[in-house]
Amino acid sequence: MIPAMPPLDPSISAVLHAADAAEGPVVFLTGAGISAESGIPTFRGAEGFWQVGSRNYQPQELATYSAFRSMPGEIWAWYLYRYAMCQSAAPNRAHLALSELETRLGDEFLLVTQNVDGLHLRAGNSAARTYQIHGNLDLVRCAGACSPELTRMPERFATWEKGRPLDDEAEQALTCTRCGDWLRPHVLWFDECYDEERYRFESSMAVAAACRLLVVVGTSGATTLPMHVATTVAQRGAAFLVVDPEPSSFSDMADANPRGCFVQGKAGEFVPAIADALSADREP
Ligand code: NAD
Repeated sequence: MIPAMPPLDPSISAVLHAADAAEGPVVFLTGAGISAESGIPTFRGAEGFWQVGSRNYQPQELATYSAFRSMPGEIWAWYLYRYAMCQSAAPNRAHLALSELETRLGDEFLLVTQNVDGLHLRAGNSAARTYQIHGNLDLVRCAGACSPELTRMPERFATWEKGRPLDDEAEQALTCTRCGDWLRPHVLWFDECYDEERYRFESSMAVAAACRLLVVVGTSGATTLPMHVATTVAQRGAAFLVVDPEPSSFSDMADANPRGCFVQGKAGEFVPAIADALSADREP
C-alpha cells in the first residue's frame, strides 16, 4: 500500500499559495542532496574527497581542466568510478515526483540541476526542460574541442571499481577518434566558465527572472550559477522554498523572503508532498 502523503506545514502551503497567484513557470533547482537517498555521496558528505595515490584532495583541486591536462589517467579513473556509481544508482522518490510533476505541468515546469548523475532524465524528466548546468557523466566530448559533438560514455565503464587505474584498452576507448586527443567527461570544471550551448547559462538566468516559484533542493551553494539564480528570484520577491537537512546561504535567503520558507529535511521526505500540492488540480 502507498503511504498517505503527510499534510504540508502551513508555512509551506502559504508559499505555494503565493506562487499560485503569480505568473510564470515553477522551477526546481537541485543539487547533490537530491541524489543522496539514491546512494550517491554529496561533496559535503563523508566521501566528498578524491584519493589519488596516498593523498586526499578536495574536489575543487582536481575537478579542473588543468588537473586533467597534468594527470589525465588519474582524473579519468576517478570519473569512471563516479560514473559506475551513478550507473548502479536508481532514481529515488524525489526524482520520480519531479518527473510526475513535469508530466502534469508541462511547459509550466522547469528543472535546473547541478547533478551530473543523469538521474533526473532516468526518472523521466525531459531533456528539453532539464537544464544540466554542470553537464552529465553519461556523455563525453573531445578534450581538445576538435568538435562540439557529445557521445555516450562507452558502456564498458559502467562497472569501474574505485582506485582501478586505466589500462591501454581504457585509454584507447577514451581517445578522440577524430584528432587523437583525450576524450573528457562532459562536466563543467571549477576553472571553466558556464555557457549557453553546453550548460544552459542564459536559459537558467531567464527562468530565474520569470518563475513564479523556485524550489531549491539539496545544494550547499558552493557554485556560482545556482547562487545567481536564487539571488535573482530572491530580489524579485518571488515565492521561494528550500529543502535541505542543513541550513545554507539558500535557506538564509528563504528565511529573509516574506514569500519564502526553509523546509528543514530530506528531499525524499518533502519533495513528493510539495510536487503533489503543486499539481493537485492537474490531470495526470
Ligand atoms: P554539496 O555536496 O555541496 O551539498 C549537498 C547539499 O545537500 C548539502 O546542503 C546537504 O545538506 C544536502 N543534503 C544532504 N542529504 C540530503 C537529502 N537527503 N535531501 C536534501 N538535501 C540533502 O552539493 P552541491 O551543492 O550540489 O554542489 C556540489 C557540486 O558537485 C555540484 O556542482 C555538483 O555538480 C557536483 N556533485 C554532483 C553529484 C551528483 O551528480 N549526484 C554528487 C556530488 C557532487
